[in-house]
Amino acid sequence: MAGENAQATVDAQGMRARNSALLLNLIWKERQVSRADLARRTGLSPSTVSAIVGDLERSGLVQSTGEGISRGGRRPTLLGFCDDAFAIVGVELGASHVLVTLTNLRGEVQAARHGAHAVQGDPEGALALIRSSIDDCLRSERVARRRLLGIGVAVPSPVHPSAPGRLSPLILPAWSGYDVQAHLAGAYNVPVFVDNDANLGALAEGWWGAGRSGDDLTYIKVATGIGAGYVIRGEVYRGAGGTAGEIGHLAVDPSGPRCVCGLNGCLTTFIGSKAIRTLARERMTGERGRTPTIADIVKSAKAGDAAARTIVDEVGHFLGIAVAGLVNLMNPAVVVLGGEITAVGDLLLDRLRETVRARALSTSVTETRLVTSNLGEQAIAVGAATLVLQAALHDRALFPTPFLAVS
Ligand SMILES: [Zn+2]
Repeated sequence: MAGENAQATVDAQGMRARNSALLLNLIWKERQVSRADLARRTGLSPSTVSAIVGDLERSGLVQSTGEGISRGGRRPTLLGFCDDAFAIVGVELGASHVLVTLTNLRGEVQAARHGAHAVQGDPEGALALIRSSIDDCLRSERVARRRLLGIGVAVPSPVHPSAPGRLSPLILPAWSGYDVQAHLAGAYNVPVFVDNDANLGALAEGWWGAGRSGDDLTYIKVATGIGAGYVIRGEVYRGAGGTAGEIGHLAVDPSGPRCVCGLNGCLTTFIGSKAIRTLARERMTGERGRTPTIADIVKSAKAGDAAARTIVDEVGHFLGIAVAGLVNLMNPAVVVLGGEITAVGDLLLDRLRETVRARALSTSVTETRLVTSNLGEQAIAVGAATLVLQAALHDRALFPTPFLAVS
């Protein structure tokens, strides 16, 4: 009998946790809603709703925000979600930079620190820069440590679900022996979530950008490495081992140059930042003695520089080959391009659309929009913060008190 009672207690706790997540999500989505509406829309009893809402109010996530319109009888008290009850850190670890953002529970950036750093070769220095940037953001916004909900980290590497803090030894050999997740969890004593950068660009677009209407989308990051992230039915699709979307190593020309992965003619060898900067040094005559940056190429292409435009054209061509394959495979409603070079806008999109139209099944293409990201340079870092928010709205038990605040 004791065993049965214990089982009943576990079931009741599980049920309460599920109902709590259900209500919290609804209040977050609606921003303002009455208890009666919550009961009507979830089918939960008014007393269950009241008990859980009381719990949410004590946690600081929900508060009364005034009176709504009466439908005969007493005016209902409205409940609102407290966007600023907690703060989230989102980190983008690039190949050669670190970006740290501090957001609220609505994905709004309140502070950000960007630092150039040779991340690939210097894990110690990169981790120290992440910590000092986080501390700086918390200090500038006067966020106490107990109000830090968690940390999300975007990394330029596939992330295996069994060891999310370990980066690919192929892409970042100097990082073997380092665990980003364990390091930051130890330093801040909060939950830390790690995912691939393109996946988090996709998550950000799905929550706050081009996919807000719930469309299936693919995000492509064009930077030092090239990667794709998928949001399918609201969830990031990662694949069995976390390597879904590694389009940077799709062979677009089998007779092309050797890639770090050991294959030939991978997309990255043609349009990765290093490759296009090398092209720019060879072709853009005004840049003698200096390798142009991606920002230089964007600026020159927009100003009409013929050499810079041939480079953008090639990026559109090779990317188009990969996107055509991807559109045939996944048939997303929207493909969003992110990364510094995509700031050239239509100069790239026109060529890309042309190549995709010529190479993908027309039935796949007609349903797919190809756009550049509107979320700007912080998209991936905000996506990292969104990963924490998504987990928190799904299961408060993952997080320490006071967010949990179980009565
Ligand atoms: Zn490769």
